Amino acid sequence: MSSRRALGIDLGGTHIKVVLLQNGRVVEKRSRLTSAEEGVESVLDRLVELGRAFGEFASVGVAVPGLVDQDGVGLLFPNLPPEWSGVSIRRLLEQRFDQPVALLNDGHAFTLAEARMGAARGATNAVGVVCGTGVGGGLVLGGRLWEGIDGRAGEIGHQTVVADGTLCGCGNRGCLETLASGPAIARSAGTATFDHALAAARRGDSMALEAIASAGRYLGIAIANAVLLLTPSRVIVGGGVAEAGDLLLDPLGEELKRRAGAVGPLDRIRVVRAELGPLAGGVGAALHGADRAIDAVVPG
Ligand SMILES: [Zn+2]
Repeated sequence: MSSRRALGIDLGGTHIKVVLLQNGRVVEKRSRLTSAEEGVESVLDRLVELGRAFGEFASVGVAVPGLVDQDGVGLLFPNLPPEWSGVSIRRLLEQRFDQPVALLNDGHAFTLAEARMGAARGATNAVGVVCGTGVGGGLVLGGRLWEGIDGRAGEIGHQTVVADGTLCGCGNRGCLETLASGPAIARSAGTATFDHALAAARRGDSMALEAIASAGRYLGIAIANAVLLLTPSRVIVGGGVAEAGDLLLDPLGEELKRRAGAVGPLDRIRVVRAELGPLAGGVGAALHGADRAIDAVVPG
C-alpha cells in the first residue's frame, strides 16, 4: 500500500465523513452534518473545507449516495434533495480541490473498504451488501473494484427476489430492497423504525422476530444468486440492518444453503458481518481515489 496520503470523503444524506489514509491506516477522521437543505454549493464547500483541514494529500475520492454518469454528473440520489440530479459534481469538486477527484457509489466504497481493510481482507473476490434505508452493494473481483458500465454494477438491492412483488422506488416489483431494507423490516414488524423493530425482536416479540428473519431469507435468496454467478470467497453484510446479527444471519445462511448448497462451493464462501462501521464509505473512497491516481500514472 502506498505511503502517499489519500483523502476519502463519504457524502451521505445526513453526514459528511472524511478520512485520511496513510500506509493502509486511517490517520485522521472527521464528521459533520450534511445540511443538504442549504443547497449543493454550500454542501460542496463544507466538504472541501473538511478535506483541506487535513493538509496535503496525493489523491481524493468521494463516495456519493446514488448514481452519477461517466462525467460525474448526478443522476439519482434517493436521500438528497432533487436539485442534486443534473449537477456536475465531479467538475465542481475538482475546481474546488484543484486536483482530480474520483467519484464512486457508496455501496462500492463500502465493499472496496471491507475487501481491502475490513471483514474480507485477504479475499481476492468479494460481494458487499449494505442494508440500511435502502439496499446497496458492490463487487471486488481480482482485488479491484468492479464498477461496470458507468459504475452501475453490484446493485444487489434491485435484484428481483419475488416475481410481481411490491412496487420498488426503481419502478420494478419485488426488489430485494422492498423486503430487506430497514424501513421494509419496520413495516412488517409494525414499528416506526428498524431500531424499534430490533429492540422488540430482542425482547422476544414474535412479529418483529419474523420480520427480521424474513428479511434474512430474502437476503439469502439474493446472495445465493450472486454466489452462484461469481463464487466470491466472502460476502460482507453491513449497514444498520446487520446490527440484528444472528437474528438476520442465521435465516440468511439457511436460505443460502437451501438455494445454492448443491451447486455453489459454500464450504469456501463465508458470509461475514462488516467490520469498519461508519468509516467504510470514507475509507473506500480514499482507496478508490488512490487506485485512480496510480492508474493515471501507469495506464493499463
Ligand atoms: Zn428496485
